[in-house]
Amino acid sequence: MSRLSIEIQGVVQGVGFRPFVYRMALARNLAGWVRNRPDGVEIEVQGSEAALNDFLRTLRDEKPAPARIHAISSRVIGELSTESAFTIRASGDSAKTRPSVPADLAICADCAAEMDTPGERRYRYPFTNCTYCGPRYSIIAGLPYDRPRTAMRAFPLCAACGAQYSDPADRRFHAQPIACPVCGPRMSLKDARGVLRAEGEEALREAVADLQAGRVLALKGLGGYQLLVDATSDTAVALLRGRKHREEKPFAVMFPDLASLCCACEVSETEAGILQSAEAPILLLKWRGGVISKGVAPGNPNLGAFLPYTPLHRLVSGLVARPLVCISGNLSDEPMRIDDDEALETLGDVADAFLLHDRPVLRPVDDSVGRVEAGALHLLRRARGFAPLPLPVPLEAPVVLAFGGHMKSTITLFADGQAVVSQHLGDLDSPQGVSLLSSTVDDFLDFFQAEPVRLACDLHPDYASTRLAERMAKTRSLPLVRVQHHHAHVAACIAELDLRNPVLGLAWDGSGYGPDGTVWGGEALLVQGPGYLRFGHLRTFPLPGGERAVREPRRSALGLCQELLRDDSAAADLFSALELRPLRRMLELGLHSPRTSSIGRLFDAVAALVGIRVGAGFEGQAAMALEFAAAALEDGGAYSITLKEGIADPTPMLQELLADRSHGVDPGIMARRFHVALADLALAFAESAGREDVVLTGGCFQNRLLAALCTQKLSSLGFQVRRPALYPPNDGGISLGQAWVAAQWDERFELGV
Ligand SMILES: [Zn+2]
Ligand SMILES: [Zn+2]
Ligand SMILES: [Zn+2]
Repeated sequence: MSRLSIEIQGVVQGVGFRPFVYRMALARNLAGWVRNRPDGVEIEVQGSEAALNDFLRTLRDEKPAPARIHAISSRVIGELSTESAFTIRASGDSAKTRPSVPADLAICADCAAEMDTPGERRYRYPFTNCTYCGPRYSIIAGLPYDRPRTAMRAFPLCAACGAQYSDPADRRFHAQPIACPVCGPRMSLKDARGVLRAEGEEALREAVADLQAGRVLALKGLGGYQLLVDATSDTAVALLRGRKHREEKPFAVMFPDLASLCCACEVSETEAGILQSAEAPILLLKWRGGVISKGVAPGNPNLGAFLPYTPLHRLVSGLVARPLVCISGNLSDEPMRIDDDEALETLGDVADAFLLHDRPVLRPVDDSVGRVEAGALHLLRRARGFAPLPLPVPLEAPVVLAFGGHMKSTITLFADGQAVVSQHLGDLDSPQGVSLLSSTVDDFLDFFQAEPVRLACDLHPDYASTRLAERMAKTRSLPLVRVQHHHAHVAACIAELDLRNPVLGLAWDGSGYGPDGTVWGGEALLVQGPGYLRFGHLRTFPLPGGERAVREPRRSALGLCQELLRDDSAAADLFSALELRPLRRMLELGLHSPRTSSIGRLFDAVAALVGIRVGAGFEGQAAMALEFAAAALEDGGAYSITLKEGIADPTPMLQELLADRSHGVDPGIMARRFHVALADLALAFAESAGREDVVLTGGCFQNRLLAALCTQKLSSLGFQVRRPALYPPNDGGISLGQAWVAAQWDERFELGV
């Protein structure tokens, strides 16, 4: 007989880990106990050596699917205890508990099998879940995570559910959101005016019939309302586009099962595993074509695809038996709706019917979006399944709250060596977006019982997030650290990958506020500790009309030609004479023409010049079109961007490109040569900076071809390429970077050296 003390760190709370440990101990006749600790789980266990070894192996190999073990350690305790049973103990209150909030989990295989089996209590029940799966973050009102503090408080357990809830040997032991047809939430179907059409199974049947007939359905999902329509019908897809005023932005598609998904997209084994995981994100996959309407993602070789992750989605999808467009239920870039009345009001003109239920959604949690590159998942939007799981950040630092950027906003709370990044909150252009940011701040401080002693925000004075941070700094008399946008981009990657060496960070994106009064976006920064040095950047050029240029790539082309060639004729034919006159005047006088070093705008300019795209329906669309055109071709050529004293000058590139254009070279070839030029530039920056670690981040590195070309060139010459993976390279990662910088900030540092 011996006794072990085991400590496990990782994502082991709210995922059924303690009941799992209990069952494993019981099966091996072991005595002892298990309890939650702030950073994981602690176990003491005693029995025969063979049983203990087997127990240890099981913890690792058979843990619940959604659990993630970061570290496990065990040591022998000299003294045996007299206890004869194994128990689940309450979490120690004495410890300085910083509780973690579990993320929402996709339906598990056991629950799926159960709801498919006629005669089971939960046969076809749309709110089936257990300790290993189901809603968490979207329904938790407060901690500790117990049913009375969730959206399930209004549903007292029936006797049968109560028995499962309190039986430690049951899969549903202490599963807070459990429910069944007797005691749990119910569905109903309303028309666009809010009039009740049907309830229960009948509601489901009618909703399915609506979808099959090509109508738009608003579905109250896990983290808010979504809009669904038949993805195989051109008319239905066009109907949704028309009503949503969303002309070209790609839609995501939910497939009934993996087999049908594989018919439409190329899926590797890794991708199949991620699609079926507890996180179940939307994955961008190579589109094979087939039954899906082209209107779902016009001009795009990739399709955002996913599998049904709640029982309700499974039912709808299985009954319709065809792929469905499934997107956030919102107006343009506002947050998704979670409130029933609000959803009816805002989506009444978009949806024909509403399939809803009486379990409240407490906060919007969008679907996560990612893709697999070189065998690893890279998230572009981090929300359901991932937020708000903590990231271990080994810094001795005070509690910091960071307010993020303006687009794809998130907030980050840093405390006790952990950074908790919120779910994707969306853009802050609408009052709804700003109020969501503000309520998420309250939410976080309440959840984590945190008192920030330092705040962080962007340098941009006009971001709504900056103003919110300023207000809080004032009312609470807290220091506010203003972190430069691209510095934050690089810092986020350093925090995620725990990089210890000084790095060269290439932060390439659309725009960020520069302390020198120009708009930054093609930056090479040396980052070490909380400070940075602007090592180099793209040569600046004027953007006639400023912000307008984001939606009109040809304006970037005009500014670029004027700056580099002192002659705008190559771009002038993209405008009518009437349009051209005021723009030329702006450029001449330097009015409303901020200067920018943005690589994102350089992409826009090139897209317009090679004739790939003149307008942009959404930000980054021109760059995406350029990427897709380039990716479709093989070519050995490259344009040249010179690097002198840190300034990257694209003049030769522009001349070569215009020469190619006059010789009628294929736009795809020109696009490819431009991509290679940027990869050469990345290498030139790395060689002149002489740092081994090179971070590639910023929205431009969502471009898969650019990231691959840069990685190839840099690694072949011995540089260590570092890229963010589970925190997006776009502005979704800004708050994490701000928190990392602010956590180490000290009055002696002058930021932005
Ligand atoms: Zn389950
Ligand atoms: Zn029940
Ligand atoms: Zn950015």
